[in-house]
Amino acid sequence: MRTVYLDNNATTPVAPAVFESMRPFYTEHFGNPSSGHHLGDKPAEAVRNARARLAAFLGCLETEIIFTSCGTEADNLAIRGIVDADRNRRHVVTSLVEHSAVLNPIKRLESQGFRVTYLPVDRAGHLDMNMLRDAVTNQTALISVMFANNETGVMHPIHDIAKIARAHDVPLHVDAVQGVGKVPFKMNDVGADLVSISAHKFHGPKGVGALIVKKGTRWTPMLLGGSQERGRRPGTENVAGIAAMAAASEYAESHLERYATDVRRLRDELEHEIMQAIPDTFVNGGGSERIPNTSNMGFPGLDAHALLVRLDEVGICASAGSACHSGAFEPSHVLSAMGLTPEEAASCIRFSLSAMTTDEDIAYCTEEIPRIVHHLRRNFISA
Ligand code: PLP
Repeated sequence: MRTVYLDNNATTPVAPAVFESMRPFYTEHFGNPSSGHHLGDKPAEAVRNARARLAAFLGCLETEIIFTSCGTEADNLAIRGIVDADRNRRHVVTSLVEHSAVLNPIKRLESQGFRVTYLPVDRAGHLDMNMLRDAVTNQTALISVMFANNETGVMHPIHDIAKIARAHDVPLHVDAVQGVGKVPFKMNDVGADLVSISAHKFHGPKGVGALIVKKGTRWTPMLLGGSQERGRRPGTENVAGIAAMAAASEYAESHLERYATDVRRLRDELEHEIMQAIPDTFVNGGGSERIPNTSNMGFPGLDAHALLVRLDEVGICASAGSACHSGAFEPSHVLSAMGLTPEEAASCIRFSLSAMTTDEDIAYCTEEIPRIVHHLRRNFISA
């Protein structure tokens, strides 16, 4: 059976050259980069070299990069590290559509007495910028807003948010886990003070990410230990992962054009063909500026989980935004924030493509998905 992988926002396949870049650090160059003997030399050089390549990719200084174990860690370090650096400011601004790696650390702050403004979004996924302007004061410790939403792909106007942050001298954290590697992303263009990234979202391995902290930002480390990452994130470096993230950044850079052209075209074809075949289908955030690989489609009257099982049976891997809690499915907080009813949200599926998605993959999906949807609907109606 054919497998069509359309769940790249969950994780991407490791690119072959990226995989090869890891091998030496599990075999002959296994040493600890902090070791004084010769077996520490190559690993230490690999971390230095990876830092330089990643800095070039992101348009930041090498000293601004802090390697972490994942995007979640980078988000946590960013949030806690900022509020701990200025104990006088007790207000945080974020949005209702952030990933749980941002929402949950902020909820923790709220339980500790911080005031939190959760910015709403409209049906298109656009942030309420007026509310942002009204909410931010010089008592605000942090603004944390994602670059692109993981469920819908909708991009936020980070430039405009950065201007508001700067006007009030408030640090801006941007969770760019879903943007980096899919659209051009340079620190200076974005205007953020802190940025989180994760290698496994751009054809690198799982378990390695980075937090970029712009020079001059008042930020306090969370982990305490040795002097790795200049004491900002102690712990023996994941040398293979760090080397691989640098290789993945180069893979991503060389495929940005493909995202802008072929990946976007394939995503649009997928949506167009499905909507032609099933006219009541809708696309969440369809009219908004989106990263080119993501489509979140609703199939009214259907249960996304039933549909996902049938898609999986024919080899199509996608995902639903809802999460299973104690046996019951809760609607996606992102789609709920966009104003979808629980029934509408429960009918939505995310398809996320990558530079490895082919025309044949999408042709297969545009055959199979309408067939399965019609079949399920017939069954639902007759049941
Ligand atoms: N932020 C966003 C927007 C994400 O989509 C994800 C993962 O899906 C994360 C953070 C967490 O990244 P990681 O899986 O590396 O912890």
